[in-house]
Amino acid sequence: MSVAPDTSQTRVILDDRFVRELPEMAVRWQAEPAPAPQLLVLNDALAEELGLDSAWLRSADGLGLLVGTSVPAGAHPVAQAYSGHQFGNLSPRLGDGRALLLGELHDRDGNERDLHLKGSGRTPFARGGDGLAAVGPMLREYLISEAMHSLGIPTTRSLAVVATGRPVQRETVLPGAVLARVASSHLRVGSFQYAALTGDLDLVRRLADHAIARHHPDAAQAENPYLALFDSVIAVQAALVAKWVLVGFVHGVMNTDNTTISGETIDYGPCAFMEAYNPETVFSSIDQWGRYAYGNQPAIIGWNMARFAETLLPLLAEDSDQAIALAQASLSGFRDRYESAWSTGMRAKVGLPEDIPDEVVAGLVGQLHDQLAQSRVDYTSFFRQLARAARGDTEPARGLFVDLAGFDDWLGRWLELGPDADQMDRVNPLYIPRNHLVEEALAAATAGDTAPMEQLLAAISAPYVERPGLQRYAEPAPDDFVNYRTFCGT
Ligand code: AMP
Ligand code: MG
Repeated sequence: MSVAPDTSQTRVILDDRFVRELPEMAVRWQAEPAPAPQLLVLNDALAEELGLDSAWLRSADGLGLLVGTSVPAGAHPVAQAYSGHQFGNLSPRLGDGRALLLGELHDRDGNERDLHLKGSGRTPFARGGDGLAAVGPMLREYLISEAMHSLGIPTTRSLAVVATGRPVQRETVLPGAVLARVASSHLRVGSFQYAALTGDLDLVRRLADHAIARHHPDAAQAENPYLALFDSVIAVQAALVAKWVLVGFVHGVMNTDNTTISGETIDYGPCAFMEAYNPETVFSSIDQWGRYAYGNQPAIIGWNMARFAETLLPLLAEDSDQAIALAQASLSGFRDRYESAWSTGMRAKVGLPEDIPDEVVAGLVGQLHDQLAQSRVDYTSFFRQLARAARGDTEPARGLFVDLAGFDDWLGRWLELGPDADQMDRVNPLYIPRNHLVEEALAAATAGDTAPMEQLLAAISAPYVERPGLQRYAEPAPDDFVNYRTFCGT
């Protein structure tokens, strides 16, 4: 008996909600042609979640969607407008210079998700840029965003990277690519700054209503919905940045245009994972003052939330003094929210049970961080070694410290509290996208060999589960891999 092929999955339905509700903030645009599209990586699990047929996405029509050259009837791709504070300075007009929002789709669970392209050609927001992206940086975003997702950290997702066949001029000529990215939305603090700068309060209100409907629907029921929106964004961002810090992630370019309203991590440019513990860790080649250093991230997100508050003030209260007082009261709660999320996460990382008082845990955790910094211990592998110590095998952890007597003293006090090693292993990753492994995988992929990237993806897609044969993915970079630098907008 033959069964008719099910073509229903291949019909991609894209809404144009953003441009319908906020036409002032979008320019209808289309992708540049891709001379020779070639699929480099496709996220089958994500395609399935989105209700898209992987086999169809691999077809010529599917690739057309993934590079934006053939979009379904009814779709209206747009470049989104936004502003942003970049390294503290306001740029009133940024926007999608090399990206397009193809539209919104509903996933298998009914959630609305943006389908968005990066590297699809110049738009009216391109300024001096060429609108393009190279294979290496797009695969880098794919790898790191998928690692973040597997670590349980809210993030935009990567659906596919397609090489376009178009060369891209950087320091050398590189192969070009388009990344197809999925997000619960692309609303940023910078989107609110753009709306506020137009001086059109009705636009700010519609943007806020759109954000409430898409991300923080409970705020609509609150006495002051816009204050509730602000509190909700503070809450999701405090939780997000605590998660970054707990896994040693350095975002690297926390400009307000790279800070989402949804609480998802966005914009994987110069980001990287810290190895040796040092709060001053910076990877970005342009972050000379360490504004976005590992240890500054909580303060910076607080600063970004203050910029967000400024855009909402006229909606918070008619009287401007009252509006400022309301915003300040909310902002003052940010620090506590962050500290509480981080402390809860740290208690889990060191495996201490709930009944141990907060002050005791905080004291131990503080002393541990001093020792990690003093001995420049690899932040990720340390916590797995510490779990081994909880199981009685203390030598691997002890071997990491210069001040052995100091660590032994700490270890003794910690062991007396009865840490739970299994619970530690559930929250402390073994496999993260370490910088030397990422570079190795991207260099191979740019030269045409995607096998190392696929192996790395396989390791980081189950970061907490130890598996045979993956030891090199759990180890710090070799000693000759020093002064690692990353780049923005590549
Ligand atoms: P990013 O550093 O990726 O957050 O980008 C900051 C701004 O620069 C955004 O408005 C981007 O759209 C724009 N941009 C980055 N690279 C390019 C490029 N190659 N062509 C056009 N615009 C770009
Ligand atoms: Mg950006």
